[in-house]
Amino acid sequence: MTRLSSPPLVRPIPNRESSSASEMLNAVVLQRIKVSPGLAILRVAPDDWDLKDFTPGQFAVLGLPESAPRCAMSDEEPDTGSDRMIKRAYSIASSSVSREFLEFYVVLVPSGRLTPRLFALSPGDRLWLGCKFSGLFTLDQVPDDQHLVLISTGTGLAPYMSMLRTQLTCGGTRRFAVLHGARHSWDFGNRSELMTLSRMCSNFDYLPCISRPVDELVPWSGQTGYIQDLWMRKPLEQLWNGSPSPENAHLFICGNPGMVESMVELLGHEGFREHTKRQPGQIHVERYW
Ligand SMILES: Cc1cc2nc3c(=O)[nH]c(=O)nc-3n(C[C@H](O)[C@H](O)[C@H](O)COP(=O)(O)OP(=O)(O)OC[C@H]3O[C@@H](n4cnc5c(N)ncnc54)[C@H](O)[C@@H]3O)c2cc1C
Repeated sequence: MTRLSSPPLVRPIPNRESSSASEMLNAVVLQRIKVSPGLAILRVAPDDWDLKDFTPGQFAVLGLPESAPRCAMSDEEPDTGSDRMIKRAYSIASSSVSREFLEFYVVLVPSGRLTPRLFALSPGDRLWLGCKFSGLFTLDQVPDDQHLVLISTGTGLAPYMSMLRTQLTCGGTRRFAVLHGARHSWDFGNRSELMTLSRMCSNFDYLPCISRPVDELVPWSGQTGYIQDLWMRKPLEQLWNGSPSPENAHLFICGNPGMVESMVELLGHEGFREHTKRQPGQIHVERYW
């Protein structure tokens, strides 16, 4: 694992007094890429400790003390005077092979406790990164000969970026498709990378789908509606020479809870079953909230 010998510009988070939560900060923001005003890609590196191995699809835990400032776009929060650490789970978006930093794809929840503080961070600012990575939303339980449909809305794309960056073999026999839903075209993080991958890899398809085409600044020629609408139009039938079936594909779903539940229901009518520990199935779900 690559160790950062000299982290850039390590700025302490302003706090009232030295407190235990602030002292626990063990990682640094390397980069914050603004996707749109409320969406960011955060790159985080551990201070001087080695990142443990993780499996693409797993999540890490990020944290900041209550005393850390909130970003301007967020709702006000009463000052409790406490400096406890606020911790939340975030899917790792970076490859598990190259681990110079961990990448996260985060949406601002203006009334939230942690995200307004994450959105106030700049390169060099410090935060807490849990040293354990967890989660079963991985390709481990999928037989190698099964194709993969990776369905998401918003930041639900994050675990798929890690899977693709690590496990996609261009030109291989296993097909990968990403169906990504967002309101607007400017809300698609990693779009250039995914477009490039789809041009370079004959076994990878990328289908971004917007739900508010009337807001577009220039006409959008791609898919429209909710992800459920897109699925009902059988978008992979032509691309894959036949739609994915329970016999040849596993589907991953991550994002808005409403989308997750209606996709699971829709797929149930096509013979797909949700995977559980007790009963293996072809639908794998990650619920963010
Ligand atoms: C396994 C796992 C992985 C996760 N990975 C990611 C990730 O990669 N990126 C990410 O942005 N979030 C992710 N989350 C959600 C994240 O843990 C936080 O819940 C979220 O960032 C809000 O934190 P907060 O403290 O600002 O809001 P809180 O004060 O905790 O408020 C929670 C409320 O925020 C809303 N909310 C939570 N997550 C989202 C979201 N992604 N989009 C829109 N509204 C949301 C819901 O209404 C929820 O009830 C993940 C959650 C889990 C359980």
